[in-house]
Amino acid sequence: MIKTMQNITILGATGSIGQSTLDVIARHPDKYQVFALSGHLNMTQLAKDVLFHRPKVAVVPTEQKRQELKQLLGQSTTEILVGDQALSDVACAVETDVVMAAIVGAAGLESSIAAATSGKKLLLANKESLVVAGALLMQAVAKSNALLLPIDSEHNAIFQCLPNGRVDSGVESVLLTASGGPFRDFSKEQLIHVTPDQAVAHPNWSMGRKISVDSATLMNKGLELIEACWLFGLTPADIEVVVHPQSVIHSMVRYIDGSVISQMGSPDMRTPIAYGLAYPNRIASGSERLKFNDLLTLSFMNPDRERFPCLRLAEDAMTIGGTAPTILNAANEVAVDAFLRGEIGFVDIAHINEQVLTSMESQVVESVSQLQEVDHLARMSAQTLITVIRS
Ligand code: NAD
Ligand code: MG
Repeated sequence: MIKTMQNITILGATGSIGQSTLDVIARHPDKYQVFALSGHLNMTQLAKDVLFHRPKVAVVPTEQKRQELKQLLGQSTTEILVGDQALSDVACAVETDVVMAAIVGAAGLESSIAAATSGKKLLLANKESLVVAGALLMQAVAKSNALLLPIDSEHNAIFQCLPNGRVDSGVESVLLTASGGPFRDFSKEQLIHVTPDQAVAHPNWSMGRKISVDSATLMNKGLELIEACWLFGLTPADIEVVVHPQSVIHSMVRYIDGSVISQMGSPDMRTPIAYGLAYPNRIASGSERLKFNDLLTLSFMNPDRERFPCLRLAEDAMTIGGTAPTILNAANEVAVDAFLRGEIGFVDIAHINEQVLTSMESQVVESVSQLQEVDHLARMSAQTLITVIRS
């Protein structure tokens, strides 16, 4: 029997998805309570959330952060745990019913796997987990009977457009929509000069810095294509990427009888988060109603893989298979970080990703530790290229 009160653990609580999750939870104190929250750098935000939601546990990365948080919390009885292992521990804890995996990057992998292995309801925002280790994460879900619900808006939309959330023989293809990002209409020449501030200013969505840059390079759509392949048992050939600048349709499923089913909503992550929390029921999310009278147009176009090569690289990596997506993801994380620190230009991100992807051989996926080693080597290779660009 499902308990009426669900205990939620939010990994990456201080980020954009984490904050939106806390916003939805605060609207339903009769249904959800917070068991654990994690934060990485922003202890001021974490302290605020701990004082408001009163979780049993907070997780921070270092002893220094623990001291900082402790000071900010005063008399609070919340226990503070330290380190990566603690992220996995709270994800597996018997008290946890639902895990919101909202850490950014491959750093979220082990805790996502821990939640899947222990059979939790796993709300997966951390798409990099599936890109880095899709085979292992899906195996862990199948073995433990965990309930994996996609929070990424496109995948949440696809899930909603599929009866039982599964692709069957009646499905012809999946249409993955992309806003096209802030530089959709920029020429190749203009792309050379874009700055981090321009790249993180997404026209429709308010998100963390890394995913905002990924949206601008279209790597986000590439990562999402890989994510969709794992979630729904597809190949890149089954997925049509469609640029839809208004971000009203969040993705679609095309059926063999000619039907196309879409999910629409205002661009607000609280909608897929509320869907995941309440599934299979529905709860209010606080998101704005779509006003159809104001919707002048819904437009669609093809993505340009020449100006935005990262999409093609992700398609290639998934087609190659094995550890290729792990390599691409690691290179991209390092390149995006260097771009945000002003060390390389915007178009260098795709160059670095391509060079690292083509220089490392893909291996058959065997274990998480193997993937972590591959991730490490790809990061070093990307870092070497960055050093060359800077010199
Ligand atoms: P964000 O940068 O706003 O937040 C990231 C969170 O991860 C923060 O709480 C941070 O403290 C934590 N974190 C960062 N590095 C860490 C590390 N090494 N170890 C442990 N914790 C760490 O990012 P976001 O926009 O909230 O995105 C989170 C995830 O959700 C990403 O995988 C992103 O692709 C995905 N996602 C986000 C959105 C969105 O609208 N923001 C939409 C779809 C999917
Ligand atoms: Mg998305």
